[in-house]
Amino acid sequence: MRYAVRAQLSLVLGVALSLVCLAAGLVMTHDTEDHHHALGIGDQFWALAFGTLVAGLVGQLVLNNRAAFRRERNLVRTAAQLREVSAELDRLARTDALTGIANRRAFFDVLGIEFRRSRRYARELSVLMLDLDHFKGVNDRWGHPFGDHVLRQTADVIAANVRESDLLGRYGGEEFALALPETGEQSALAVAEKLRAAIEAHEFRTPTTPPAGEPAVRLTISIGVASLPIEDEQDEVELIGRADQALYEAKRTGRNRVVPYRKPAPVQPAEEPLARSDAS
Ligand code: GH3
Ligand code: MG
Ligand code: MG
Repeated sequence: MRYAVRAQLSLVLGVALSLVCLAAGLVMTHDTEDHHHALGIGDQFWALAFGTLVAGLVGQLVLNNRAAFRRERNLVRTAAQLREVSAELDRLARTDALTGIANRRAFFDVLGIEFRRSRRYARELSVLMLDLDHFKGVNDRWGHPFGDHVLRQTADVIAANVRESDLLGRYGGEEFALALPETGEQSALAVAEKLRAAIEAHEFRTPTTPPAGEPAVRLTISIGVASLPIEDEQDEVELIGRADQALYEAKRTGRNRVVPYRKPAPVQPAEEPLARSDAS
């Protein structure tokens, strides 16, 4: 039964019992010839009546308080559960469901913080863009589930070869982004080369794919690298853009390569055509 209902019931019962006792007390006072004795018995009933009334009221008070206490405890529990669910939702909103690493939004959020910190304190910062080579062929040949397995494994291989303070995110389909705080271009190129070699050496296989007896699937990855400093008015989007341009260059020049960003050479103005000699 609900506490509120029980509380009301206890009050009604208490009041009813008091009334019965009051009536009985009155009747006994009236019926008894020995006035002194009658008053004594009457007093006992009056006391009982009063006691029952107080018991009813106290009962209601206690029950109501218990109900309020339980309600509050339930509210506290619900609030804690809500906080947990909200934290879990936040984590899911920032995580790539396939690989379990940061998604693009989370990556950009953290990169933004890291970028401003590095610039403010004149610290080094590098960004890598990594893209599996000819990945479409993996899906086409071995099917999407195996392609998904390759993406998960790739994330694992990259994560296993970098520091915990580095930030790895899934940038797009088969593109990953890696931010390396406190790391200048030379060190970032070394990290990128280590990752390139690790993917090249990795054997991709599941219990069923490729079929037993066939060699594991081997893949390569192309990597573009960009590092601070960049111009004052530029932000982290520019840094990512530069890594992306370097990645494009790695693809263009043969894949399975690490390429650092280099500013394009300024376009030379076209030379003036030589004046034609009137003598000819
Ligand atoms: P390139 O060497 O130029 O990078 O060639 P590529 O084949 O790797 O690149 P392309 O952009 O042509 O193809 C990317 C493929 O990635 C196509 C798409 O079907 C696949 N892909 C994107 N997201 C997923 C995913 O979540 N799972 C799987 N299995 N495949 C994906
Ligand atoms: Mg690719
Ligand atoms: Mg791609």
